Amino acid sequence: MKPAARWPLHPAPREGEALSSWLQRVAARYQMDLYDLLEHDLGHGRVDDLDTAPPPALLTALSLRSGIELERLRCMSFAGWVPWLLDSLDSRIPDALETYAFQFSLLLPRRGRKTRSITSWRAWLPSQPIHRACPLCLNDSEDQAILLAWKLPLMLSCPQHGCWLESYSGVPGQFLGWENADAAPRTASDAMVAMDRRTWQALTTGYVELPRRRIHAGLWFRLLRTLLDELNTPLSQCGPCVWSIRHVWACCGHLLRAGQSQWRPYEILAPAVQLQMLEAAATAIELIESSVVRPHGELGALFLSEPHTGFTNGLPEKKRKPEPVDHWREAVKALNEAIAEARHNCETARSLFTLASYGRRDPESLDRLRDTFAQEGIPPEFLSHYVPREPFAFLSMNDGLSDKI
Ligand SMILES: [Zn+2]
Repeated sequence: MKPAARWPLHPAPREGEALSSWLQRVAARYQMDLYDLLEHDLGHGRVDDLDTAPPPALLTALSLRSGIELERLRCMSFAGWVPWLLDSLDSRIPDALETYAFQFSLLLPRRGRKTRSITSWRAWLPSQPIHRACPLCLNDSEDQAILLAWKLPLMLSCPQHGCWLESYSGVPGQFLGWENADAAPRTASDAMVAMDRRTWQALTTGYVELPRRRIHAGLWFRLLRTLLDELNTPLSQCGPCVWSIRHVWACCGHLLRAGQSQWRPYEILAPAVQLQMLEAAATAIELIESSVVRPHGELGALFLSEPHTGFTNGLPEKKRKPEPVDHWREAVKALNEAIAEARHNCETARSLFTLASYGRRDPESLDRLRDTFAQEGIPPEFLSHYVPREPFAFLSMNDGLSDKI
C-alpha cells in the first residue's frame, strides 16, 4: 500500500449514502474506477464487502485520506447499523428470527402464534442485490449518490421527494438506466410516505415519533419487521383477526399475502413481493391510526393517538402502581418546614413547642426540650417563659413525634 496521502478533491458523503457509492464518486473525481481506487490506492482487493462489513483497516485508511470521522464511515455500511437495525451480521445465530421479528406483536395477538425456525437468517438483508433509487435524487447524472437504505427492502419511497424508488441497472454516475425509462417519477401514497418518513427518521436520528410516544429506532425496525410477517400469516393462523388481515390486503389492492401460499421469511421473497408486503404494511399502519383496523398485538396501541407521555425502549410497559403515601415521611417533611419557620416566627415556635411537649409536664423535661429547640436554631427567647397549656389530645397517635424533635 502506498503511504497515505490526503484526497484533496473528494466529495462529501451524502447523508445515509452507502460506502460503495461514495467511493465510486471519489474514484470518478480522480478519473479512476472503484476497483483501481481500492486496489492501487488503498490495498483492498475487493468491492463486495464495502456496504456490508468493510475491514477496520480500510476504514482507518479512508479516514486518513478523507479527514472524515471513522464512526461516520463505519455507519456507511450495515456493520455500522448493528445492533439497532439488525442484531448481528452473523446469519448462524440460533432463533435470530424469533428474537428479532417476534418478540413484539402489533396487528395479531402473540398468543397462539406459530414458532418459526430457520437455520440461517439476518434481518432485512436481501438474498439478492436490490437496485432501486429515487429518480429525483439522481437527477444529476454526473454525481449520483446511492443511499445504503435503498439496498434493503425497507422503504418504498424517497422521504425527501415523496416519489417511488425505481429500479435501475448499470453503475450510478457512469451509465445508469431506469427500468421504466419513459415514466415520470410516481408519487407515493400518503400511507407509504408516512411510513418511509418514520423509517428515515429512525435511520437519521435514532428515534421515531409515533402517535402514542417517541420510540427508539431499534424498536421501529423490529415493529416494522413484525408487521411484515403478521401480514404474511396464513389466515388459518390469524384467529379472530382474519378480517383485519383481509381488509388490509383488500385496501392496498394486492392479492392476499401478495399471492404467497407458503410462508417464507421476508428477506428471501422476490423483490416484487417484498414491495407489495411493504405497501400492505404502510396500509395497515394507516388503517390502525385511523381506527379502521383494531390492533390486537401488545404494541399496536403505539399507533393510536394519545397525549405524548414520554419515551419507551420497547419493553412491555409495567403498569405503574400509584406510589403509596408515606405518612411518616410527610410528617417529618412538615416538621422540618415548621422548624425552619420557627427560627424566625415566635408563634410557630410556640405551637411546635406545645406539640413536642405533649406528655411532658415537669419543668426539667420542658427545659431539656427548650435546649433541643435552641440547638435547632430556634431563638431561646421565643420559649423562655412559655409554658404549654394543655396537651394536644388529637395528636395522641403521634407518640414518637416528640422524640424526633
Ligand atoms: Zn429523492
